[in-house]
Amino acid sequence: MLTGMHVVIIGGDARQLEVIRKLSEQDAKVSLIGFEQLDDGFAGANKHTFQTIDPKTVDAVILPVSGANQEGEVESIFSGEKLTIDEKWLKETPNETVIYSGISTQYLKKLTQQTNKTLIEVFDRDDVAIYNSIPTAEGTVMMVIQHTDITIHDSKVLVTGLGRVGTTVARTFQSLGASVSVAANESDLRARAFEMGFKAFDLSQLEKKVIDTDVVINTIPAKVVTGEVLSKMPPHTLVIDLASKPGGTDFRYAEKRGIKALLAPGLPGIVAPKTAGKIIANVLSTLLFDQWEVLKGGN
Ligand code: NAP
Repeated sequence: MLTGMHVVIIGGDARQLEVIRKLSEQDAKVSLIGFEQLDDGFAGANKHTFQTIDPKTVDAVILPVSGANQEGEVESIFSGEKLTIDEKWLKETPNETVIYSGISTQYLKKLTQQTNKTLIEVFDRDDVAIYNSIPTAEGTVMMVIQHTDITIHDSKVLVTGLGRVGTTVARTFQSLGASVSVAANESDLRARAFEMGFKAFDLSQLEKKVIDTDVVINTIPAKVVTGEVLSKMPPHTLVIDLASKPGGTDFRYAEKRGIKALLAPGLPGIVAPKTAGKIIANVLSTLLFDQWEVLKGGN
């Protein structure tokens, strides 16, 4: 239980509701900033502004998946106001206060360094990334169905990258009957891809391998689906780019060539916000529990 722990949740989307629910169940004192348009009431969670919270009482701060942008602005679908997390407020919190964010940004890194706070990037963890790859793969299936006029079954799907997302995506399309190939730089990943029943090849071969592909799914956060690669694809090929912004595709050239190429960020939050929220909530509650044990031990 998190009885007595003061957790401030700043902004977010529908996924954050699962976090509020979980922390309320665990008896934390939850203060919500940027939630004035939220209708649901959660026992033990109260709406606030930065001005109505005494920073000295704060044990943990939870930011949304996107963290804070370069101006310190935090997104909230539950607020019409601009939300900014700044140095002055954070400096007032105790040294032990931990900041949890989905991803980190330059601003957040600098802010937490300047205020001497620990920053934990929840999405950096393997467990979160692997759980999250499930709704990501389902969202990719949805997009492929929406943007093609062929079945996935018997189609030729090429996945670039065999990391946490690439592995789940490749397996999902394979289980729907697609013929899946995987492009990866490392020979051990290609060996694993082969073992899993995919055709595997080195990334340097991409130009040659896209010539008869129906769908290309990029998971590599680097420019890999270049103009040269796009120029070899059949015109009907659909490119879905899952890599974090700006993606790994030359979208300008794809448009010029008439190839449909779509950057598809944040699929878990779009197709399965409840599941995606539960993934974050479960990990956060474990992390907060560990932090709280240490804090209580030190008191
Ligand atoms: P990951 O486990 O780190 O896998 C990335 C893969 O790309 C690995 O195979 C990696 O190989 C390879 N790679 C990275 N940089 C490369 C480069 N410069 N050249 C060649 N290969 C390179 O990451 P992940 O968890 O699968 O996530 C992949 C991307 O999807 C990330 O950008 C992530 O933010 C994004 N994502 C998007 C969604 C969505 O909804 N669209 C959801 C979740 C994640 P090495 O390990 O050898 O570097």
